[in-house]
Amino acid sequence: MTNVRTRFAPSPTGYMHVGGIRTALFAWLLAQHYSGKFILRIEDTDKQREVKGSIEHIISCLSGLGLNYDEGPDKPGDYGPYLQSERLDLYQHWAKKLIAKGRAYADPYTVDQLNNFRQLAIDEHRPYLYRYQRPENPPIWDGTQALRFKSEPQDYTWQDEVMGTLSAGKDAIDDFILIKSDGYPTYNFAHIIDDYEMRITHVMRGHEFIASTPNYLNLYQALEIQRPLLVTPPPVLGINGNKKLSKRDGAKDILEYLNEGYLPEALINFIASLGWNDGSTQEIYSLQELVKSFSLDRIQKSGARFDEKRLLWMNGNYIRQLPIDKLYTQVSNYWPVEALDFDESYKKQVLTLIQDRLKFYKELPELCRFFFVDLEVNPDLINSNKKLTALGNDSLKQLLLQVVDKLATSDFSLDALTNHLNELLTITNQPPAIIFSLIRIASTQVPASPPLAESLNLLGKQRTLNRLKAQIDNL
Ligand code: GLU
Repeated sequence: MTNVRTRFAPSPTGYMHVGGIRTALFAWLLAQHYSGKFILRIEDTDKQREVKGSIEHIISCLSGLGLNYDEGPDKPGDYGPYLQSERLDLYQHWAKKLIAKGRAYADPYTVDQLNNFRQLAIDEHRPYLYRYQRPENPPIWDGTQALRFKSEPQDYTWQDEVMGTLSAGKDAIDDFILIKSDGYPTYNFAHIIDDYEMRITHVMRGHEFIASTPNYLNLYQALEIQRPLLVTPPPVLGINGNKKLSKRDGAKDILEYLNEGYLPEALINFIASLGWNDGSTQEIYSLQELVKSFSLDRIQKSGARFDEKRLLWMNGNYIRQLPIDKLYTQVSNYWPVEALDFDESYKKQVLTLIQDRLKFYKELPELCRFFFVDLEVNPDLINSNKKLTALGNDSLKQLLLQVVDKLATSDFSLDALTNHLNELLTITNQPPAIIFSLIRIASTQVPASPPLAESLNLLGKQRTLNRLKAQIDNL
């Protein structure tokens, strides 16, 4: 394929969901794969639904993920402008061509009249189609009325690059609005003009547009222009796989994932796997690998389940691969306030200890705060541990006193600590599940922490002993 030009055409309605960005990613990958161009076009013709700041939001999401576009609102190209609201003249030009051909007309009806037509259809148990009331002598279109397409209904069978052969009967076709009475075009009209004018070769978009495709095909014919290839990836479904993914499934805005410290590479890898695979069992792909192996014929037809646990796993996987210096730079905004006074070398040691457990950066404070500040003794940690509570507070106190005695003799080097901790098993005659859990709880005051000897080594002697004593006092 040559001169591949794909586009992402979001409406600025304020939220960049996973499904939307998946469409963008597939279009981007296709363009990269064929060394083509990827275009960002903002479809801002529905002024009522527009949310302020959305365009910046969309751009931040794309750039945050590294999905660079070759042409867009802030990236001039040969086929701009790339905001539909700045292309109104063009839609007028094409609208007039249709009027001249007798394929568009002014809508003379009031809202009340249209409602009555619709009600009548409901009462008579038949589908409502505007064209049943198509006026015989519509007024000259002066731009204050809606302009409608004069359809020529027919049956259609067409090819979708993912969904295969699709078809629909005449009832799917109606005299839809091309230009609204406010002067803005509808999506149905504008996208067809723009895809043509912008030389788009592949239209990637969601399933919701399949139902309207017969109308688009009818319009392409009336305009006498060739349509691009249609590519409809499967819907992204919630975890149960029975309905479209929504915020209720816990799916967040893409910027939110980025702000919470999900790595762009991991997000891309995860999102690419929603409805596409290369036929192998490989799960982790670099961006270059994705570009190389992406192809339309491996996009699946059936819905793709969004499993946030898998995203977490994948992100953790990417975090674990990072060299510590890089991780240190990336987490600079995520440290707990208590870390402020600690130096780089100490923080890097903390990171080394928790890197394996870090699944996204926003959870950094929770995982590491105890390295920077003495947390208050939390009795629940012992109370919720059946093995420890079975011993009773007095025994636990005695055990901790033995621990303090032993560790007071330690120089807290890693080797010494490892030995001393092992010796404590013998001295106390308790299994690791008792003695190490107790030390872990007392020295960190969190339910889970990195390897014990390493943690104590980093905390140092004084802080460790103080914490053990605080726990003893609390028992
Ligand atoms: N503006 C449409 C939307 O945001 C885009 C559909 C398309 O890609 O053509 O849903």
